[in-house]
Amino acid sequence: MSKKNEKKADPKKLTKELLIPRRNGFGQVSEKDLEKAESFSESYKKFLDHAKTEREAVKTAVAMAEKEGFVPFDPTKHYKAGDKVYCNNRGKALILAVIGKNGCKNGVRIAAAHIDSPRLDLKPHPLYEQNELAMFKSHYYGGIKKYQWTALPLSMHGFVVKKDGSTVEINVGEEPGDPQFCVTDLLPHLSADQMQKTLAKAIEGENLNILIGSRPLDCDEGDNLVKLNVMRLLNEKYGITEEDFVSADIEFVPALKAVDVGFDRSMIGAYGHDDRVCAFPSVMAAFSVKEPEATCLAVLADREEVGSDGNTGLNSEFMRYFIADLAQMEGMEPRHVLSRSKCLSADVNAAFDPTYASAYEATNSCYLNSGVCVTKYTGARGKSGTSEASAEFMGEVRALLEDNDVLWQTGELGKVDGGGGGTVAMYIANLNVDVVDVGVPVLSMHAPFEVISKLDLYMTYKAFRAFFEK
Ligand code: MN
Ligand code: MN
Repeated sequence: MSKKNEKKADPKKLTKELLIPRRNGFGQVSEKDLEKAESFSESYKKFLDHAKTEREAVKTAVAMAEKEGFVPFDPTKHYKAGDKVYCNNRGKALILAVIGKNGCKNGVRIAAAHIDSPRLDLKPHPLYEQNELAMFKSHYYGGIKKYQWTALPLSMHGFVVKKDGSTVEINVGEEPGDPQFCVTDLLPHLSADQMQKTLAKAIEGENLNILIGSRPLDCDEGDNLVKLNVMRLLNEKYGITEEDFVSADIEFVPALKAVDVGFDRSMIGAYGHDDRVCAFPSVMAAFSVKEPEATCLAVLADREEVGSDGNTGLNSEFMRYFIADLAQMEGMEPRHVLSRSKCLSADVNAAFDPTYASAYEATNSCYLNSGVCVTKYTGARGKSGTSEASAEFMGEVRALLEDNDVLWQTGELGKVDGGGGGTVAMYIANLNVDVVDVGVPVLSMHAPFEVISKLDLYMTYKAFRAFFEK
């Protein structure tokens, strides 16, 4: 019942005032931002094609950083505002830092992404021959759906340390005309048994064997001549022997280039968006800040896909040591700097996929083209295995994004009991740093070919830049 003269409610006006705005960014963001998203995406695709492993990502980022005036960090030196340094941790992880006007006095600002992606590593004794085919035994790295890795062109990216200590880099399958490799799959005609198995069991880890040769050594007698012939070719080209595989990091990744997806070219398909799609904007944001208030760190970590353990992962001390060096050169206690620091844990989230809608909770999912996703917590079941950003820090980040015209959204990782996952956020939060996950929504996450939106990528860059500049 309403009084006669009372004005009727205006749902349009109230919607605008009270409810979350519509999701899709097209029609909302400026024409200028759309153009910038396009050119930013072109640079990103080039980066991706050169950074298919953590080592290559570090190498590529260091080369880019040096062009921007970054120099190797020297803890015995003193730095002034605007100085740009980098710390290369074992060629697999990297910290870029831009020294701020206030240094670390009020803490540092960290954007931390990871540069490792799921893949097939070689075992220490990989090479064998069976029924006159030469193969490599692989040991998968990170969370993969094994069936996706069969009948897929693969390239080989390796780093070998020989007995005499010399090193050799191997990269086969990326250049036009290069040979490529693959894991074979069983033909459907003979798959009656295999087709009865679950997706988890149909392809076993021990069957992810990589086909690398079929031609025997040209000779009159002997065993394993196909294997021997492959080893001969590797020895001729790289000077390595079978035993050298023991001291090597060799990764097989999809031999795919980053490409536009869709008639409208609004998306990018590639291997390893997770998490180079956040690593690249973090690096570019570090390049864009000149003299920030607080010292800014873009951290590119390794080993996230296997839980961040190991000395190049963020569950180790390498970032803490770096911040301790910065603190001590300013005469501060590292713990005081850490306690005042803030971090955007730059990692992807699962974009809502209508084909698999039942895995998601539509009201709390992130969506392609709806901007950078701020994820309050990840984890599994009852929020286990995650940190959770405080209401205060969520509020601060939300205001920052609004004030800087960044299209943003929030989302959980699928249904509550559907599974789960984590990021580096909790390891950084454990240092008493304020942390929240911020990154790009991805379709087909961890598949050999993942898809992201160009608009979301650019908005992620804008978010990190605003965070550093604040
Ligand atoms: Mn990730
Ligand atoms: Mn991942």
